[in-house]
Amino acid sequence: MGSEGVQDGVSWRLCPSAVSANETHAPGSDVAVRTDRIGWSIMAPMNPSPALRFLTPAGWRDLHCHADANGHIASLQTTTEPVAGYALPGIPNTHSHAFQRAMAGLAEHQTDPADSFWTWRELMYRFAGKLDPDSQYAIASQLYAEMLEAGYTSVCEFHYLHHQPDGRPYDDPAAMSQSLIAAASDVGIRMTLLPVLYMTASFDGRELEPRQRRFGHTLDAYLALLQNLRRKENPMLRVGAALHSLRAVPQSVVPALLDAMGGEDFPIHIHIAEQVAEVEQCLSLRGARPVRWLLDNAPVDARWTLVHATHLSGGEVHGIAASGATVALCPTTEGNLGDGLFPLRDFLDAGGRFSIGSDSHVSVSPVEELRWLEYGQRLHARRRNIVATSRQPSTATVLLEQAWKGGAASAGTASGAIAVDHAADWISLDPTAPALAGVRDEDVLDRFLFAGNRPLVDQVHVAGTCRVEGGRHRQHDTIAHRYRNTLQHLLSKT
Ligand SMILES: [Zn+2]
Repeated sequence: MGSEGVQDGVSWRLCPSAVSANETHAPGSDVAVRTDRIGWSIMAPMNPSPALRFLTPAGWRDLHCHADANGHIASLQTTTEPVAGYALPGIPNTHSHAFQRAMAGLAEHQTDPADSFWTWRELMYRFAGKLDPDSQYAIASQLYAEMLEAGYTSVCEFHYLHHQPDGRPYDDPAAMSQSLIAAASDVGIRMTLLPVLYMTASFDGRELEPRQRRFGHTLDAYLALLQNLRRKENPMLRVGAALHSLRAVPQSVVPALLDAMGGEDFPIHIHIAEQVAEVEQCLSLRGARPVRWLLDNAPVDARWTLVHATHLSGGEVHGIAASGATVALCPTTEGNLGDGLFPLRDFLDAGGRFSIGSDSHVSVSPVEELRWLEYGQRLHARRRNIVATSRQPSTATVLLEQAWKGGAASAGTASGAIAVDHAADWISLDPTAPALAGVRDEDVLDRFLFAGNRPLVDQVHVAGTCRVEGGRHRQHDTIAHRYRNTLQHLLSKT
């Protein structure tokens, strides 16, 4: 008999042999195939993982992992075989604007002595104006392959580049969404697609500027897009909703949107309180700071992810934590844009939950996001090990557990844990890496996050399928070739 239990809200079960339910063997094949009523099919390897020392909710365990045809963990089989190395749950990336990957590094020349988020946004608008579904597919494929190579196994795509550059919808109004879905599917990353509602240019309700028109929808057109995309959901694709920001959505539309969505349980994301100017405008035009306004005017709960939430009052810190919402922190982008520092220790003390995202993709590395999250706090407080506590003294363990649990909540998926019925998404670490020489189990996560710059990711599995081997995506060269050609063409356009 196996053993089972519940730890930190996650049930786990260790079985003496593999059990894979609801699968059928395709004739003459060694893979399982299952097709459900809406027509998706997923092929999952019947072979279990090699023996690895997996980090489970109950601690490190030597296991073989068996995925089912849905890409979830069907069983975890204990083993006494020598293990091939350490394996961790894949890390969710909870905030991405895929197209911005192609402009990373192009906004680092001073254009004004007061360069800021707002001057960066000018370049972003110019770049966004050049893109179409094909070029976005090439960029997103490159980005998602890089994410997998770095150890991210899912992405929340906050997608607002909906229409043609002049604002007219494409013949298929979902064409830009489809190109992101195709990129994620072809590269093999799990996706939560968040089509963004973007209606106004500012808190005062002024119309979108010409270069913002390709982002815009009426509420009815947005709901039609959402309904269309939700029909495409499958075990590798969730569809949620997103409000670009309070400045981009009129006050009356927030309750109307939530009413139209009913009480359904799907993720809702919003950019909020990233910039001081945005806080000041909200105070002056809506009479409250952005997070306060949202908490008072929307049923913010565990479905919600507040992206950035950089500038908070003490009451807002406690308000977000009490709501059960997750804050998506993007430290390398927030640092690159000069946003400010999130009050992390206060938020954790209040019981808050966070996830991480790479946002503008100036960096595509969960290691760098989590390091900078902690280092920013250290520089500010002039102390070390800010997120650690006497209950959990390992800094990396606190950071990664938040990234896994908060990430699962932001993505709206059962992921971020090596446990039965959770996503069969894991990263195995290179057992030959000098950073892991002589490592003890209790130090693996701290070595992973805080030792050197050589990536330790060796293999990456998503839905039980190996996508990265030896640190390289299996289609690395094809994807990179297409990306280079696309960038050469895009950057030659004036
Ligand atoms: Zn963003």
